Amino acid sequence: MVLLQRCVFKRVLQQFYSGNQRHPKSLLSAGFTALPAGAGAAGRRSQATIPDIRERTLIAVKPDGVQRRLVGQIMQRFEQRGFKLVGLKMLQVSDDLLAQHYCELRTKPFYPRLLHYMTSGPVVVMVWEGHKVVQASRTMVGHTNPAEAQAGTVRGDFSFHVSRNVVHASDSLEGAQREIQLWFQKKEILSWDSCDQTFTCEV
Ligand code: UDP
Ligand code: MG
Repeated sequence: MVLLQRCVFKRVLQQFYSGNQRHPKSLLSAGFTALPAGAGAAGRRSQATIPDIRERTLIAVKPDGVQRRLVGQIMQRFEQRGFKLVGLKMLQVSDDLLAQHYCELRTKPFYPRLLHYMTSGPVVVMVWEGHKVVQASRTMVGHTNPAEAQAGTVRGDFSFHVSRNVVHASDSLEGAQREIQLWFQKKEILSWDSCDQTFTCEV
């Protein structure tokens, strides 16, 4: 009887370990470095090898969006799309930071009004990561002038005037890198593996 119990126990152990070995293999084939056995995916550092799934962009909910309680709905669109939030904070923007952020618009006639608008209350600023996230988020945000923005875009659904267009999105890879460095310190950006990334990220 004891011998039989030992045999069954040994068999269960063998199956358990061979089952565990399959898990890291499937991660490797998806382009990810294997985690140590027993390590959960969430909260671990990402070591993805597919280059452009690590593309990042800066999205900000402007003061009108915060005042109108649109932060949750805007974030939800990016989450639903499968992008990964790697940085998030709320702040009252300084004139200095804004001047750097909008340095290319310094000479525009609307610049003083833009600064006034952007400092009129807190903004929520985020870094989102994913495959072609810069281009995709520009499409999701919509035309600069909400009057011309398609329905279904953030600006097309939530605003109607260019001076109150609810949200900012970086317009190029270089712009995104510059803006992320401007708004976030390195330690404020978190690299983590989301448990659904083999479904949302694989190309
Ligand atoms: N803006 C404005 N009037 C204009 C054009 C732009 O008030 O005629 C503001 C608007 O808030 C816009 C921001 O300036 O989002 C930055 O302009 P940009 O051309 O970079 O547009 P975006 O990249 O935000 O679509
Ligand atoms: Mg712009």
